[in-house]
Amino acid sequence: MSNKKVLITGGSGFLGSHLCEKYLEKGYDVICMDNLITGNIENVQHLFNEPNFEFVKYDVTNFIYVKGDLDLVLHFASPASPIDYLEMPIQTLKVGSLGTHKALGLAKDKGARFLLASTSEVYGDPLTHPQKETYWGNVNPIGFRGVYDEAKRFAEAMTMAYHRFHKLETRIVRIFNTYGPRMRLNDGRALPTFMTQALRGEDITVFGDGSQTRSFCYVDDLVEGIYRLSQSDEVYPVNIGNPSEITIREFADEIISLTGSKSKVIYKELPKDDPQVRQPDITRAKEIIGWEPQVHRSEGLKRTLDDFRKRV
Ligand code: UDP
Repeated sequence: MSNKKVLITGGSGFLGSHLCEKYLEKGYDVICMDNLITGNIENVQHLFNEPNFEFVKYDVTNFIYVKGDLDLVLHFASPASPIDYLEMPIQTLKVGSLGTHKALGLAKDKGARFLLASTSEVYGDPLTHPQKETYWGNVNPIGFRGVYDEAKRFAEAMTMAYHRFHKLETRIVRIFNTYGPRMRLNDGRALPTFMTQALRGEDITVFGDGSQTRSFCYVDDLVEGIYRLSQSDEVYPVNIGNPSEITIREFADEIISLTGSKSKVIYKELPKDDPQVRQPDITRAKEIIGWEPQVHRSEGLKRTLDDFRKRV
Protein backbone atom coordinates (compact mmCIF):
# COMPACT_ATOMS: atom_id res chain seq x y z
CA MET A 1 0.00 0.00 0.00
CA SER A 2 1.33 3.44 -0.83
CA ASN A 3 1.72 6.18 1.75
CA LYS A 4 -0.93 8.77 2.40
CA LYS A 5 -0.08 12.12 0.83
CA VAL A 6 -0.50 15.59 2.29
CA LEU A 7 -0.08 19.02 0.69
CA ILE A 8 0.93 21.72 3.18
CA THR A 9 0.53 25.27 1.88
CA GLY A 10 2.81 27.68 3.70
CA GLY A 11 4.90 24.60 4.44
CA SER A 12 8.18 26.43 4.92
CA GLY A 13 6.85 28.92 7.43
CA PHE A 14 7.26 28.55 11.18
CA LEU A 15 4.21 26.32 11.74
CA GLY A 16 4.29 24.77 8.27
CA SER A 17 7.83 23.44 8.69
CA HIS A 18 6.97 21.77 12.01
CA LEU A 19 3.89 20.26 10.35
CA CYS A 20 6.03 18.89 7.47
CA GLU A 21 8.16 17.07 10.05
CA LYS A 22 5.12 15.77 11.94
CA TYR A 23 3.40 14.29 8.88
CA LEU A 24 6.67 12.75 7.61
CA GLU A 25 7.07 11.12 11.03
CA LYS A 26 3.53 9.80 10.75
CA GLY A 27 4.40 8.12 7.45
CA TYR A 28 2.88 10.59 4.99
CA ASP A 29 4.38 11.74 1.72
CA VAL A 30 4.62 15.51 2.12
CA ILE A 31 4.41 18.22 -0.52
CA CYS A 32 5.46 21.55 0.94
CA MET A 33 4.21 24.52 -1.11
CA ASP A 34 5.30 28.07 -0.38
CA ASN A 35 6.01 31.27 -2.31
CA LEU A 36 8.59 32.19 0.34
CA ILE A 37 7.40 35.75 0.91
CA THR A 38 7.39 35.16 4.64
CA GLY A 39 8.35 31.47 4.70
CA ASN A 40 12.02 30.54 4.75
CA ILE A 41 13.50 27.67 2.77
CA GLU A 42 16.04 27.10 5.55
CA ASN A 43 13.17 25.89 7.77
CA VAL A 44 12.79 22.80 5.57
CA GLN A 45 16.30 22.44 4.12
CA HIS A 46 17.03 19.48 6.44
CA LEU A 47 14.08 17.62 4.85
CA PHE A 48 15.38 17.79 1.28
CA ASN A 49 17.16 14.43 1.68
CA GLU A 50 13.94 12.69 2.74
CA PRO A 51 12.59 10.62 -0.16
CA ASN A 52 9.00 11.36 0.89
CA PHE A 53 9.44 15.13 0.94
CA GLU A 54 8.96 17.50 -1.97
CA PHE A 55 9.17 21.29 -2.07
CA VAL A 56 7.28 23.40 -4.62
CA LYS A 57 7.76 27.17 -4.80
CA TYR A 58 4.34 28.50 -5.69
CA ASP A 59 1.81 31.24 -4.90
CA VAL A 60 -1.42 29.45 -3.95
CA THR A 61 -3.64 32.39 -4.88
CA ASN A 62 -3.33 30.96 -8.43
CA PHE A 63 -4.78 27.69 -9.73
CA ILE A 64 -2.93 24.87 -7.93
CA TYR A 65 -1.89 21.79 -9.85
CA VAL A 66 -0.64 18.68 -8.06
CA LYS A 67 0.09 15.44 -9.90
CA GLY A 68 -1.44 12.21 -8.59
CA ASP A 69 -3.52 11.51 -5.51
CA LEU A 70 -3.84 13.57 -2.35
CA ASP A 71 -5.42 12.52 0.95
CA LEU A 72 -5.12 15.75 2.89
CA VAL A 73 -4.63 19.48 2.26
CA LEU A 74 -3.45 21.66 5.14
CA HIS A 75 -3.94 25.32 4.23
CA PHE A 76 -1.39 27.26 6.28
CA ALA A 77 -0.19 29.83 3.75
CA SER A 78 -0.54 33.41 5.01
CA PRO A 79 1.50 36.24 6.41
CA ALA A 80 0.72 35.78 10.09
CA SER A 81 2.35 38.46 12.18
CA PRO A 82 0.90 41.96 12.55
CA ILE A 83 3.83 43.75 10.87
CA ASP A 84 3.71 41.30 7.97
CA TYR A 85 0.09 41.86 7.22
CA LEU A 86 0.48 45.60 7.63
CA GLU A 87 3.25 45.49 5.02
CA MET A 88 1.42 43.01 2.77
CA PRO A 89 -2.27 43.79 3.21
CA ILE A 90 -3.33 42.73 -0.29
CA GLN A 91 -1.36 39.46 -0.30
CA THR A 92 -2.83 38.68 3.14
CA LEU A 93 -6.38 39.21 1.88
CA LYS A 94 -5.66 37.27 -1.30
CA VAL A 95 -4.17 34.19 0.33
CA GLY A 96 -6.98 34.00 2.89
CA SER A 97 -9.68 34.35 0.24
CA LEU A 98 -8.42 33.33 -3.23
CA GLY A 99 -5.80 30.98 -1.76
CA THR A 100 -8.38 29.22 0.42
CA HIS A 101 -10.69 28.89 -2.59
CA LYS A 102 -7.93 27.34 -4.72
CA ALA A 103 -6.84 24.97 -1.94
CA LEU A 104 -10.46 23.90 -1.37
CA GLY A 105 -10.93 23.38 -5.11
CA LEU A 106 -7.85 21.16 -5.21
CA ALA A 107 -9.08 19.12 -2.21
CA LYS A 108 -12.46 18.67 -3.92
CA ASP A 109 -10.84 17.57 -7.17
CA LYS A 110 -8.67 15.01 -5.35
CA GLY A 111 -11.36 13.84 -2.92
CA ALA A 112 -8.96 14.91 -0.14
CA ARG A 113 -9.76 16.11 3.37
CA PHE A 114 -9.12 19.84 3.93
CA LEU A 115 -7.91 21.51 7.12
CA LEU A 116 -7.95 25.30 7.45
CA ALA A 117 -5.51 27.16 9.67
CA SER A 118 -7.78 29.75 11.21
CA THR A 119 -6.93 31.98 14.12
CA SER A 120 -7.95 33.47 17.44
CA GLU A 121 -8.02 36.73 15.44
CA VAL A 122 -11.50 35.78 14.25
CA TYR A 123 -12.54 36.79 17.80
CA GLY A 124 -10.98 40.26 17.29
CA ASP A 125 -10.75 42.30 20.51
CA PRO A 126 -12.94 39.85 22.40
CA LEU A 127 -15.78 40.86 24.67
CA THR A 128 -15.92 37.41 26.31
CA HIS A 129 -13.13 35.76 28.23
CA PRO A 130 -11.81 33.13 27.75
CA GLN A 131 -12.87 32.68 24.12
CA LYS A 132 -15.10 29.74 23.22
CA GLU A 133 -15.68 28.60 19.65
CA THR A 134 -19.30 29.76 19.89
CA TYR A 135 -18.24 33.43 20.25
CA TRP A 136 -18.74 35.38 17.00
CA GLY A 137 -16.08 37.96 17.62
CA ASN A 138 -15.52 41.69 17.79
CA VAL A 139 -13.59 42.58 14.63
CA ASN A 140 -13.06 45.97 13.00
CA PRO A 141 -13.35 45.14 9.27
CA ILE A 142 -11.64 48.34 8.12
CA GLY A 143 -8.91 48.43 10.79
CA PHE A 144 -5.26 47.54 10.07
CA ARG A 145 -5.72 44.01 11.39
CA GLY A 146 -8.94 43.64 9.39
CA VAL A 147 -7.00 42.35 6.37
CA TYR A 148 -5.98 39.25 8.32
CA ASP A 149 -9.05 38.85 10.53
CA GLU A 150 -11.59 39.22 7.74
CA ALA A 151 -9.61 37.04 5.32
CA LYS A 152 -9.61 34.26 7.91
CA ARG A 153 -13.30 34.79 8.67
CA PHE A 154 -14.02 34.56 4.95
CA ALA A 155 -11.83 31.43 4.78
CA GLU A 156 -13.91 29.79 7.52
CA ALA A 157 -17.14 30.68 5.69
CA MET A 158 -15.75 29.31 2.41
CA THR A 159 -14.60 26.11 4.12
CA MET A 160 -18.07 25.53 5.62
CA ALA A 161 -19.68 26.24 2.23
CA TYR A 162 -17.49 23.57 0.57
CA HIS A 163 -18.43 21.21 3.35
CA ARG A 164 -22.16 21.89 3.13
CA PHE A 165 -22.51 22.30 -0.62
CA HIS A 166 -19.83 19.96 -2.00
CA LYS A 167 -19.81 17.53 0.95
CA LEU A 168 -16.06 18.02 1.31
CA GLU A 169 -14.52 16.67 4.53
CA THR A 170 -13.27 19.82 6.24
CA ARG A 171 -11.64 20.75 9.55
CA ILE A 172 -11.04 24.22 11.04
CA VAL A 173 -8.43 24.91 13.70
CA ARG A 174 -8.42 28.28 15.47
CA ILE A 175 -4.80 28.79 16.44
CA PHE A 176 -3.86 30.98 19.40
CA ASN A 177 -0.43 32.57 19.94
CA THR A 178 2.22 29.93 19.33
CA TYR A 179 5.97 30.07 19.80
CA GLY A 180 9.04 27.91 19.35
CA PRO A 181 12.18 27.30 17.32
CA ARG A 182 12.28 28.79 13.77
CA MET A 183 10.15 31.84 14.47
CA ARG A 184 11.53 34.63 12.33
CA LEU A 185 13.77 36.90 14.40
CA ASN A 186 12.32 40.01 12.79
CA ASP A 187 8.67 39.01 12.46
CA GLY A 188 7.73 41.75 14.90
CA ARG A 189 5.88 39.53 17.33
CA ALA A 190 6.38 39.77 21.06
CA LEU A 191 8.43 36.63 21.62
CA PRO A 192 11.02 36.90 18.82
CA THR A 193 11.33 40.64 19.37
CA PHE A 194 11.84 40.36 23.14
CA MET A 195 14.23 37.41 22.86
CA THR A 196 16.34 39.10 20.19
CA GLN A 197 16.42 42.35 22.16
CA ALA A 198 17.34 40.51 25.38
CA LEU A 199 20.17 38.57 23.71
CA ARG A 200 21.57 41.75 22.16
CA GLY A 201 21.24 43.74 25.39
CA GLU A 202 18.87 46.20 23.70
CA ASP A 203 15.80 47.81 25.30
CA ILE A 204 12.74 45.55 25.41
CA THR A 205 9.88 47.31 23.62
CA VAL A 206 6.59 46.70 25.43
CA PHE A 207 3.62 48.22 23.61
CA GLY A 208 1.05 50.17 25.62
CA ASP A 209 1.34 49.66 29.38
CA GLY A 210 1.90 45.93 28.90
CA SER A 211 -1.30 45.00 30.74
CA GLN A 212 -2.75 43.29 27.66
CA THR A 213 -2.67 39.50 27.94
CA ARG A 214 -1.82 36.61 25.63
CA SER A 215 -1.68 32.85 26.15
CA PHE A 216 1.33 31.23 24.49
CA CYS A 217 1.38 27.64 23.23
CA TYR A 218 4.57 25.70 22.49
CA VAL A 219 4.75 24.64 18.85
CA ASP A 220 5.04 20.86 19.51
CA ASP A 221 1.78 20.94 21.47
CA LEU A 222 0.04 22.88 18.72
CA VAL A 223 1.25 20.52 16.00
CA GLU A 224 0.04 17.49 17.97
CA GLY A 225 -3.39 19.14 18.32
CA ILE A 226 -3.56 19.86 14.60
CA TYR A 227 -2.52 16.32 13.73
CA ARG A 228 -5.24 14.88 15.97
CA LEU A 229 -7.87 17.24 14.56
CA SER A 230 -6.90 16.20 11.01
CA GLN A 231 -7.57 12.57 11.98
CA SER A 232 -10.90 13.35 13.70
CA ASP A 233 -14.45 13.72 12.37
CA GLU A 234 -15.03 17.23 13.75
CA VAL A 235 -16.31 19.73 11.19
CA TYR A 236 -16.81 22.75 13.46
CA PRO A 237 -13.94 25.00 14.57
CA VAL A 238 -11.72 23.83 17.42
CA ASN A 239 -9.51 26.18 19.47
CA ILE A 240 -5.95 24.95 19.89
CA GLY A 241 -3.84 26.97 22.30
CA ASN A 242 -2.43 27.01 25.78
CA PRO A 243 -4.81 28.60 28.32
CA SER A 244 -1.92 29.75 30.54
CA GLU A 245 -2.43 33.53 30.32
CA ILE A 246 0.16 36.23 31.03
CA THR A 247 0.42 39.98 30.64
CA ILE A 248 2.90 41.20 28.05
CA ARG A 249 4.81 43.08 30.75
CA GLU A 250 5.25 39.85 32.76
CA PHE A 251 6.19 38.02 29.61
CA ALA A 252 8.97 40.55 28.94
CA ASP A 253 10.23 40.04 32.51
CA GLU A 254 10.24 36.25 32.09
CA ILE A 255 12.38 36.55 28.97
CA ILE A 256 14.79 38.98 30.64
CA SER A 257 15.27 36.64 33.58
CA LEU A 258 15.56 33.52 31.40
CA THR A 259 18.27 35.09 29.23
CA GLY A 260 20.00 36.74 32.20
CA SER A 261 19.97 39.93 30.15
CA LYS A 262 20.68 43.46 31.43
CA SER A 263 18.05 44.86 29.05
CA LYS A 264 15.50 47.35 30.39
CA VAL A 265 11.84 47.50 29.48
CA ILE A 266 10.72 50.62 27.60
CA TYR A 267 7.15 51.44 26.63
CA LYS A 268 5.98 52.25 23.09
CA GLU A 269 2.65 53.19 21.61
CA LEU A 270 0.06 50.39 21.51
CA PRO A 271 -0.75 49.39 17.91
CA LYS A 272 -4.33 50.09 16.77
CA ASP A 273 -6.93 47.37 17.50
CA ASP A 274 -4.43 45.39 19.60
CA PRO A 275 -6.63 42.89 21.51
CA GLN A 276 -6.69 43.62 25.25
CA VAL A 277 -7.04 39.99 26.31
CA ARG A 278 -6.75 36.58 24.69
CA GLN A 279 -7.12 33.12 26.18
CA PRO A 280 -8.46 29.95 24.57
CA ASP A 281 -11.23 27.88 26.10
CA ILE A 282 -10.03 24.40 25.12
CA THR A 283 -12.96 22.37 26.45
CA ARG A 284 -13.84 21.22 22.92
CA ALA A 285 -10.28 20.16 22.10
CA LYS A 286 -10.17 18.11 25.31
CA GLU A 287 -13.51 16.44 24.60
CA ILE A 288 -13.21 15.85 20.88
CA ILE A 289 -9.53 15.00 20.35
CA GLY A 290 -8.38 14.37 23.93
CA TRP A 291 -5.83 17.15 23.58
CA GLU A 292 -4.31 19.56 26.05
CA PRO A 293 -0.91 21.22 26.12
CA GLN A 294 1.97 19.35 27.79
CA VAL A 295 4.87 21.80 27.61
CA HIS A 296 5.02 24.42 30.34
CA ARG A 297 6.11 27.91 29.27
CA SER A 298 9.34 27.69 31.30
CA GLU A 299 10.37 24.59 29.33
CA GLY A 300 9.12 25.87 25.97
CA LEU A 301 10.96 29.16 26.38
CA LYS A 302 14.20 27.31 27.19
CA ARG A 303 13.94 25.23 24.03
CA THR A 304 13.15 28.35 22.01
CA LEU A 305 16.08 30.23 23.52
CA ASP A 306 18.48 27.43 22.47
CA ASP A 307 17.38 28.01 18.88
CA PHE A 308 17.53 31.81 19.14
CA ARG A 309 21.05 31.78 20.62
CA LYS A 310 22.28 30.05 17.44
CA ARG A 311 20.68 32.65 15.20
CA VAL A 312 20.93 36.03 16.96
N1 UDP B 1 4.09 43.50 21.63
C1 UDP B 1 4.92 44.29 22.39
N2 UDP B 1 6.18 44.57 21.91
C2 UDP B 1 6.65 44.09 20.73
C3 UDP B 1 5.78 43.27 19.97
C4 UDP B 1 4.52 42.99 20.44
O1 UDP B 1 4.55 44.74 23.48
O2 UDP B 1 7.80 44.41 20.37
C5 UDP B 1 2.75 43.22 22.14
C6 UDP B 1 1.62 43.48 21.14
O3 UDP B 1 1.20 44.82 21.17
C7 UDP B 1 0.55 42.53 21.64
C8 UDP B 1 1.35 41.37 22.23
O4 UDP B 1 2.66 41.85 22.46
O5 UDP B 1 -0.21 43.12 22.65
C9 UDP B 1 1.43 40.15 21.32
O6 UDP B 1 1.79 40.61 20.06
P1 UDP B 1 2.18 39.68 18.86
O7 UDP B 1 2.61 40.56 17.74
O8 UDP B 1 3.15 38.66 19.34
O9 UDP B 1 0.87 38.89 18.45
P2 UDP B 1 -0.70 39.22 18.49
O10 UDP B 1 -1.17 38.37 19.61
O11 UDP B 1 -0.95 40.68 18.77
O12 UDP B 1 -1.20 38.80 17.17
